[in-house]
Formats: sequence, C-alpha cells, structure tokens
Amino acid sequence: MRLSFANWRKMELPWKASRPWAAYRAVCMDTGEPGGETAGPQRGPLRKTPDELSSTENAQCVHALMWRETDVATVSELVSQAERLFEGAEDILEAVQGGPVEWWDVVEAGVVRYQVWLYGVDSGVVFEAGTTKQVAHVAQFALWCEEDLRLWKALAVAHRELKAGCPESDLARMAFNAAVRCPHCDRLNEIWIDAFDDWVICSGCGQGFDAAKSGRGS
Ligand SMILES: [Zn+2]
Repeated sequence: MRLSFANWRKMELPWKASRPWAAYRAVCMDTGEPGGETAGPQRGPLRKTPDELSSTENAQCVHALMWRETDVATVSELVSQAERLFEGAEDILEAVQGGPVEWWDVVEAGVVRYQVWLYGVDSGVVFEAGTTKQVAHVAQFALWCEEDLRLWKALAVAHRELKAGCPESDLARMAFNAAVRCPHCDRLNEIWIDAFDDWVICSGCGQGFDAAKSGRGS
C-alpha cells in the first residue's frame, strides 16, 4: 500500500473567541504567513468557507468535530448552535475551537482512498473516502490506527514525505509513526521503516515478532 496526501484544504470557522486554545495554538504553531501561499515550491491550501463545503465535506467535518451523531447536517449549523450541541462538554468545545480546520485526500495509485480532517490544534479523524466511516484518529498530535497496522504504516510513510514537501501545513506538525507492543515483554516499539516488513525486532528484549499479528498501538 503506497499512499500520498493530496488536495490540501483549509477553513477558518467563525467561532466566538476562544482565548485559552488560541494561546495554546500560538505556542504550538509557527506564526509565519498563514498557508505560505507565496513562499517555496509548494502552493498553499485551497481556502474554503463553511458555505462552500460539499455535502460530503459537511458530513465528515461535523462528524470529526462532534465525535458523535448529531441533528445538524452542516458545519454552519454546528458553529451557530455550538453552545447547545456542546452543552456539558464545554472543555471539548474549547479544544475544537483551537484552530482552523484542515483536510486532505489520501491517494493510492491515483484513487482517493481516505480523507483526513484536522482541527483543534492537535486532533483529527481519518475517514474512508466520501464516507463518515472512521478508520483512524489523531489525538494529541499522534495518529492512532490500531485496527490496521498496514494502513498505519502506509500513512506514516506518506506523512514523512508530506513533512518534507509541505512543512508549513498543520498536517506536517502531527506525529504519524506507527507503534506496536512487543508480545514478549510488552514494550511499545515505534516503527519508522520505509519497507513494509511486518517483522519487528523489539528494542526492549531483542526478540522478533510479527507486528501485523500482534500489533496494537495502545
Ligand atoms: Zn520485547
């Protein structure tokens, strides 16, 4: 599985001000020109407003931001009704409001296989293309894809290329390395390989194991 990220898009949401997370974001992020449209070989993101989203983009973004089923269909409705939708979960709302929303297609051999949505500085969701079926998520900058180690590694390799080619994106600030637990000593091994070899030599006990069979990151 050879994946790459394509079609960088970005959107600012008209939340009411969220000062703690704006400060967190300022610490985490570079404060250079947003998007870097004019610098370097990589063009900046396609910028959209909530009114310009397709129905699929609306569905995926609402799903990513809410983490549950809701009675709203569009991002505009979510923003305007945020206080009601996040009632009792104001801390989550604060986190969601932490930064712009950025999203990408994940392409394999010219075919879009997944979309990844990032929001709230350090969070995100990976969906099967065109659906709200979640296959992985991003929490505290880290990708988690415990159910499919090969997908995790393919995303990690694609992400390393993205970091080199498009360092000013929010996606480049995430950490997509795959990690599996050794079945012999329980040590968490990070997998940074380019080759799609499932055999891992544990950095703790030195024994080998098949990551695809025992692989669980958490
Ligand atoms: Zn071990």
